[in-house]
Amino acid sequence: MQERTFAIVKPDAFRKGYTGEIIGEIAKAGFKVVAIKKASISKAQAAGFYAVHKDRPFFDSLTAFMSSGPIVMMVLEKANAIADWRKLMGATNPANAEEGTLRKKFAGSIEENAVHGSDAPETAAFEIGYWFAGYELI
Ligand code: ATP
Ligand code: MG
Repeated sequence: MQERTFAIVKPDAFRKGYTGEIIGEIAKAGFKVVAIKKASISKAQAAGFYAVHKDRPFFDSLTAFMSSGPIVMMVLEKANAIADWRKLMGATNPANAEEGTLRKKFAGSIEENAVHGSDAPETAAFEIGYWFAGYELI
């Protein structure tokens, strides 16, 4: 069964010119890119997206970072897309990320960690619907 997940090339990775290489890894790993767009989001939009983290000490800094420059947002599809994309991304803190993962290669710190991925079917559905309209997902 095909599954969809939501992915972001975060501002740090975009700024450093890693977008093409990250999309290449996504294709190589067998994901279909259902939808893709570049955007510069506001701090308020970032806060809505990361609302689950609103009481965490890093929330203000995280939303400032996510609105600090262009990002690339994608809907990815394959069997087991959610878990497989998280595996390809690697651990949140690049210091703990496995060899060969995107965060090992491209992340600079626990906050500026290059990529985002949904962590469960419910969050994937929320995140896809937050950034993409139905007509963009055909
Ligand atoms: P994401 O949701 O972006 O895919 P994740 O699921 O690996 O990452 P979360 O715990 O959901 O990690 O944290 C969301 C984001 O908040 C992280 O990717 C990172 O950018 C930032 N973050 C998490 N923990 C910290 C921290 N201790 N200090 C600073 N920033 C953090
Ligand atoms: Mg998360």
